[in-house]
Amino acid sequence: MTTVEIDIETARREFRDQLIEAGLLIPMGIDGLFGRGAVFENVIDGIDVAVRRKGQAVHGDSATVLRFPPLFSREAFEGTDYIASFPNLTGSVSTFTGGDREHRDLLEDRAAGNGWDHHLHPAGTMLVSAACHPSYSTLDPQLPPDGRLLDVYGYCFRHEPAIDPARMQAFRMHEYVRVGTPEQAIEHREKWIGHGLEVLAALGLDAEPVAANDPFFGRAGRMLAANQHAENLKTELVIRLYGDLTDGTAVVSSNCHQDHFGTTFTLRTADGEVAHSACVGFGMERIALALFRTHGLDPATWPVSVRAAMTA
Ligand code: ZN
Repeated sequence: MTTVEIDIETARREFRDQLIEAGLLIPMGIDGLFGRGAVFENVIDGIDVAVRRKGQAVHGDSATVLRFPPLFSREAFEGTDYIASFPNLTGSVSTFTGGDREHRDLLEDRAAGNGWDHHLHPAGTMLVSAACHPSYSTLDPQLPPDGRLLDVYGYCFRHEPAIDPARMQAFRMHEYVRVGTPEQAIEHREKWIGHGLEVLAALGLDAEPVAANDPFFGRAGRMLAANQHAENLKTELVIRLYGDLTDGTAVVSSNCHQDHFGTTFTLRTADGEVAHSACVGFGMERIALALFRTHGLDPATWPVSVRAAMTA
């Protein structure tokens, strides 16, 4: 590692240790998985107040609220194409499907101190990778004239264990999702860049919009990433959690999926065209970390305006 890489890793480790020391995060013995203490959860709830306040100001009561468990069917997962683009981040659920004989084999391996995971088989469920993913297969494929607007909030899983507390394996995302015409999708993506910045500003956070691409896997993925960049489909709102040591941490992401989900989930606009979609996602844990980093570890000492923005 270079000295800069060592400095970055040290800064991340120190921040993680401070959060644990303060009881905000509870280590679970594996990188990137944490329990949350009461103060941390209160902050998450406060951030959600600010997010929903903006959602209400922008969309009124037009958003359909949908909440999903952190699992969904492999069939719906299949429609997201996530396994093609991000196999390395994917999580699937396995369970035991054998009989007595297979159980005996499992117990033998376990008693011998061997791994036993290979005795398990796919359960037909996958962990949710992005909060909006379970929503598409639940929509009536024939959209109403105005399309659909969804308010989705839930836990996401990405297998990328790290020292950096801002790169958790399990975290929450609050999304506003637009499904409709190409124009509606583009407008949603673009407008929420500004709305997202306003939410962060109300929380006293200094963020800047950056054109971005997803970390698509492998050689084919580099093409997808280049296209996403060239077509201006993804903008991240980035906060410098570690000063100039890194390029910053994305806390909000505003994306246009074009006709990707419309095609795979056979969603049609009122005119019979393939639906386009876009979503803005607020990374709740990352925003919380930015608040602790910016305003200190004790929310009672945060600026009055910030606390007001987090109070319903
Ligand atoms: Zn989404």
